[in-house]
Amino acid sequence: MIPATQQSFRSMNQTMRIETRAPDPAGLAALEAQVARDLEMLNLPPRNWVPPLFRDRTAALDAVVVGAGMNGIAAAGALIFRGMPNIAVLEAAGPGQEGPWCTTARMDTLRSPKTLPGPCFGIPSLTFRAWYVASFGVEAWEGLYKIFNRTWQDYLGWVQRVLKLPLSHFSRVTRIAPADGLLRLTVEQPEGERHLLARHVVLATGRAGAGGLDLPDFVDRALFPDLAALAPQPIDFEALRGRSVGIIGGGASAWDNAATALERGAARVDLYVRRAVLPQVNKGRGSTGPHYHNAYDALSDEERWKLAVYLHDEQAPVPHETVHRALRQPGFHVHLATPTRAARRDGNQVAIDLGGGNPREERRDFLIVATGFSVDPLHVPELGDFAPHVRRWIDVIGDAPPELRRREIETFPVLGPGFELQPRDAAAPPELEKIHLVNYGAHLSHGGIASDIPGVMVAGERVADAVLRALFVAEFPAIRQALVEYDEPELLGTPFHVPKTGASDG
Ligand SMILES: Cc1cc2nc3c(=O)[nH]c(=O)nc-3n(C[C@H](O)[C@H](O)[C@H](O)COP(=O)(O)OP(=O)(O)OC[C@H]3O[C@@H](n4cnc5c(N)ncnc54)[C@H](O)[C@@H]3O)c2cc1C
Repeated sequence: MIPATQQSFRSMNQTMRIETRAPDPAGLAALEAQVARDLEMLNLPPRNWVPPLFRDRTAALDAVVVGAGMNGIAAAGALIFRGMPNIAVLEAAGPGQEGPWCTTARMDTLRSPKTLPGPCFGIPSLTFRAWYVASFGVEAWEGLYKIFNRTWQDYLGWVQRVLKLPLSHFSRVTRIAPADGLLRLTVEQPEGERHLLARHVVLATGRAGAGGLDLPDFVDRALFPDLAALAPQPIDFEALRGRSVGIIGGGASAWDNAATALERGAARVDLYVRRAVLPQVNKGRGSTGPHYHNAYDALSDEERWKLAVYLHDEQAPVPHETVHRALRQPGFHVHLATPTRAARRDGNQVAIDLGGGNPREERRDFLIVATGFSVDPLHVPELGDFAPHVRRWIDVIGDAPPELRRREIETFPVLGPGFELQPRDAAAPPELEKIHLVNYGAHLSHGGIASDIPGVMVAGERVADAVLRALFVAEFPAIRQALVEYDEPELLGTPFHVPKTGASDG
């Protein structure tokens, strides 16, 4: 009998051959016609119901979505499908470069199963599967093992296009400031800097968007850029050909960087892992599904914190495909129970001081630091002067006993039911709660819906509902007045029609 992993690899190789084909334009055209029909059946999108708002003769946008990765797409589409099309989607990267998939993600395939529907708004023709079958055929779908990064990126780009999102690429939001009840965004674009006014901002800025990349204190900053890089950044692997590479970290990204370096010709890669035993079970996958997605935020603060501590301690295992990929390379060496104590420059090499049962110093030509992402609103540059006023989980659990304290997750922001930042002090500008953080930083408040693919539509719809409710309440006087003025006589032409004599406010 073939072990499960080998069966997987056999299927994966088949898929690799199939996916070298380009998507079938006729298949995609037919699918796009189907999408148009489905939207028509559902009367989507509805008309814009939000009264326009001007400030000094400048029109304010109802929402700006920052980031056009899958969470930005889901949020923007859900806003439009709720009758709020007066939005902008701003994306720092160029077309096809959004998110990590084709830039810094170095795995062969997604970890997720191919059957996840993606940002589809409950519409079958907008699912990944529909797009894949239209592009490559049913047989290819049957043979697909897991989704290649480029394939997933192509699908997301297609959803952006068929939804006709008001999307500007090469547009980086650098600062959000309070503006008398609105939010003023500074946007850097190739043509120069511009400013926008918005009633709400949805920060769908990805894994690094909630506090940047993690760089441990024990790594000498002077190693960068010629002798070291962070794993989630671009790395010139060609320059590592024939050289030795040390990698700090034991997660999927550390292993994928090791495999990539060796596949591109590095002579040797040593992976230094603090843990003696790798995590075995993906508790993240075990904590998905309608119950976790839709009710996580109904748990008490205490329950959410204890769950976050549990998941933090368990960590996610490296996908078995990635382990096999690295082990196939003869130059790969993994050192478990080997914490790095320091990494410093030594001439044109990196001296790595290692602890554990066999303390020693090793020298490598290059270092990759794969310790992941940090989360702390204080380190989100776009938040500007808002940042110190954001309530964090440390403000909630500061009195917890030592066994329930975890420094790494205490700085996550506390978010409201619609992902709104919450004020930590009375000095917080009231506009703070008009900023919605729909990225990994939402994990402690809402679970995994704003970070991983399975919950992407739950997050998009939840944030769109929150914006809808806030706008409806804020605009209720005008909306009510419009109701009073609404005058479409139903009984006109029947014997029972009574000509209007005067307005009533009901
Ligand atoms: C290597 C890697 C592999 C992963 N694999 C999986 C997987 O297999 N399955 C799974 O479920 N999840 C996976 N994830 C987790 C998650 O699905 C991804 O991180 C996904 O990209 C999250 O989507 P997003 O829309 O939140 O962020 P992103 O896809 O990162 O998109 C955010 C976008 O915001 C833009 N942006 C950021 N700041 C600004 C700014 N100031 N102005 C304008 N634009 C800005 C960025 O350019 C980016 O395009 C993986 C994550 C990583 C890092």
